[in-house]
Amino acid sequence: MSQGRVIKVAGPLVEAANMESANIRDIVKVGNLQLIGEIIQMENDVAAIQVYEETSGLGLNEPVETTGLPLSVELGPGLMSQMFDGIQRPLEKIEEVTKSEYLARGVSVPVLDKEKLWEVEAKVSIGDTVEHGDVVAVVQETKIVEHRIMIPKGVSGTIKSIEPGEKTVDDIVYTVEQKDGSIFEGTLKQRWPVRQGRPYKRKLLPKQPLITGQRVIDTFFPVSKGGAAAIPGPFGAGKTVIQHQIAKYSDVDIVVYIGCGERGNEMTEVLDEFPKLIDPNTGESLMERTILIANTSNMPVAAREASIYTGITIAEYYRDMGYSVAVMADSTSRWAEALREMSGRLEEMPGDEGYPAYLGSRIAEYYERAGLVEVLGNSGRQGSVTAISAVSPPGGDTSEPVTQNTLRVVKVFWGLDSGLSQRRHFPAVDWLESYSLYLDEIGETINQRTNMNWLGMVNRGMSILQNESELQEIVQLVGVESLSDRDRITMMTARMLREDYLQQNAYDDIDTYTSFDKQASMLSNILHFDEKARETQEYGATYSDIENGTNQVRERIARSKEITEDNRDQIDLIKEQIDQDMREVLQTGGEN
Ligand code: ADP
Ligand code: MG
Repeated sequence: MSQGRVIKVAGPLVEAANMESANIRDIVKVGNLQLIGEIIQMENDVAAIQVYEETSGLGLNEPVETTGLPLSVELGPGLMSQMFDGIQRPLEKIEEVTKSEYLARGVSVPVLDKEKLWEVEAKVSIGDTVEHGDVVAVVQETKIVEHRIMIPKGVSGTIKSIEPGEKTVDDIVYTVEQKDGSIFEGTLKQRWPVRQGRPYKRKLLPKQPLITGQRVIDTFFPVSKGGAAAIPGPFGAGKTVIQHQIAKYSDVDIVVYIGCGERGNEMTEVLDEFPKLIDPNTGESLMERTILIANTSNMPVAAREASIYTGITIAEYYRDMGYSVAVMADSTSRWAEALREMSGRLEEMPGDEGYPAYLGSRIAEYYERAGLVEVLGNSGRQGSVTAISAVSPPGGDTSEPVTQNTLRVVKVFWGLDSGLSQRRHFPAVDWLESYSLYLDEIGETINQRTNMNWLGMVNRGMSILQNESELQEIVQLVGVESLSDRDRITMMTARMLREDYLQQNAYDDIDTYTSFDKQASMLSNILHFDEKARETQEYGATYSDIENGTNQVRERIARSKEITEDNRDQIDLIKEQIDQDMREVLQTGGEN
């Protein structure tokens, strides 16, 4: 068989001739160093290869061989708590092997620890009928994650043997006799290609909120478990902080965090901080349920293109186990730039702003992999992938193609506003521009789960904020004095909503996370204040009476943020003081 050979090197794009035995999307080993690459175009015997490692020094005529396999990830116990690069090479271990800070080229390190023994517990018996997706055994992967060993795609039949006990990822744990009489030998690991979404039985309507602990999000712009959300915003508006907050505090089982083309120190921060942080939902270290993918700005650009697929495929794997998974990408703009760079080097016909014409379909395909699904197999198990991505348009201009194509497919838009971030209103989520198409579904779910009219509260809060923005125009023209007392109450409540509720300090030990119950207490106090103030005004008090008579209680409302979750009942007690102060306003005309 003829040997492929390099005929052109252009940065991350390499062309090789004599490649007739290879296929598009094959993974190939390029050059004497055996750099990892993927064929992205084939013309006759010439393959265009995007190389995932630095190509400097790669010479013409060096050999190229195909593996015949698509870009794929290795899946099994031991993924959790690890950090990988964009093509799933374990970063810490590569450092150990090469004793250097940067990835040495051509180094191949196993993804999963081959020596580690896992205590395998059987979930099937000999003679059981199984099909792909069925759980045959479990392994306690971390303190909080039970790793479910599933029958791989394409395998079905009768369990012929099952052997629990201490096993490595490569030991044969079970065998399946298939219909054609062949025997499938199952281990703890499997390989999945990353470029297509994993099959499932059916998609379900996601109705359960993903509680992030961030008030502006959970209350006004919630995302469901299985939903998709985007955070577009200019540099410095707080995209990364929001992504970190969600990764830290969401009530999901698993988080896959993809640092895609952004600064390396942000991933270092995650690595330093996450192990020390306690997950409020499990009481264990955050890393017990987190997997990191790092392809930062200093790493090869082609691997950045792959990183989001590596991340979402790992997310789908845990989804299939029956978990709720959040996959965060910061930022998809950097991913799109990598796509544009490769397309440019291929001399493809450029579309909008130089992005390839298929940008929109690639973005749509990515977000379509989010969802709440019933997984393959007989169990009826459900799992979800929630996709939350930052988009960093140049200059913050959201009319550009990446933002526009993203907003076409996601149902939640958290728009960050540089005006807000400059005024230090964080999170700088613009409450007038942002939206969540899940709001009503989630609101109904919460209404049913609690005995509150949550959706009513949310709508009331939002209408006060919208009212404020209209009134502000008048105030700017003719001054606040010209407003009616009713409108001034609106302005007062809106300010409480903005400052005491929407603003949330990510760096404050208590304020950084607010449980749903605490959010409900805080919001209902502000709305209760609003209602009582209006009542009091209708009974004859003036706006100034109300303002002067409620300084203390408004201070208490403002300081609710500082009250710990354990002392939440103190927040509920504020309502009594609101009632009492309003009564006094009526009796004394606000002199206290
Ligand atoms: P971006 O990723 O959009 O460029 P960052 O997420 O890095 O922006 O945020 C920039 C800065 O804004 C942070 O370093 C921090 O000082 C401030 N910031 C953002 N969000 C918050 C928040 N919720 N609480 C406090 N400060 C914040
Ligand atoms: Mg950032």
